[in-house]
Amino acid sequence: MRIKGDYHMHSRYSGDSNNDLEAIVQRAIELGLEEIAITDHGPSHNGYGIKRIEYWVLRREIDHLNEKYPQIKVLLGIEANILGVDGKIDLDEEMFELNDWVNAGYHFGSNLKNDYKIHLDNILSKFSKKIFNRAKTNNTKAMINAMRNNKIDMITHPGAKGPIDVEAVAKVAAETGTMLEINNSHGHLTTEEIMIAMKYPVKFVLNSDAHKIENIGSVEDSISRVIEAGLDPTRVYNIFIE
Ligand SMILES: [Zn+2]
Ligand SMILES: [Zn+2]
Repeated sequence: MRIKGDYHMHSRYSGDSNNDLEAIVQRAIELGLEEIAITDHGPSHNGYGIKRIEYWVLRREIDHLNEKYPQIKVLLGIEANILGVDGKIDLDEEMFELNDWVNAGYHFGSNLKNDYKIHLDNILSKFSKKIFNRAKTNNTKAMINAMRNNKIDMITHPGAKGPIDVEAVAKVAAETGTMLEINNSHGHLTTEEIMIAMKYPVKFVLNSDAHKIENIGSVEDSISRVIEAGLDPTRVYNIFIE
């Protein structure tokens, strides 16, 4: 089993990656990928977010690379942050106009001024059942509202940075046509979570979430989880069916 595209990776426009765009594209071609999405962190992440103004520059660089390397399609994506319980995302209209592919996920460190209570609950959820339950309720609400109120192609690493009700999320993802990620780097969706989500007519995507060049296209761990869960490969958006 292999993938034809990788829809989650970071470049030097994210604060936590040094990946050069052309090196990313060359590596993806080497691996035989047909399509990739460059998905840097949304601008409201206080440590790693892309600067809004740089989104124009990134668009131009990607257009140039698509001309230079016609053997692959490079999409301008984003890994937007899910903000607050009402599920806003940090992709404004101007950025949306430039964008080809929207990922959204929850991250510590986004919008610290307003969301510090949510982050604190998620960090402390390991130590108290009461906090765990509150965090789970709020994270689930945020994710559901984000899918209902925004045009999102895929939710990144659902449940990785804080607990969620996978069943409730999968139900709404099926309604809104939002895909759920089986992230190779973060361990979510887990095998058990895939088995819950696959009861609903939701699509899945396997991605590397590469922050380093050598990890682009690496989804071995995600594939193992697909097999363990008994998920039909035709339900995975980017699996290459031979
Ligand atoms: Zn992420
Ligand atoms: Zn990421």
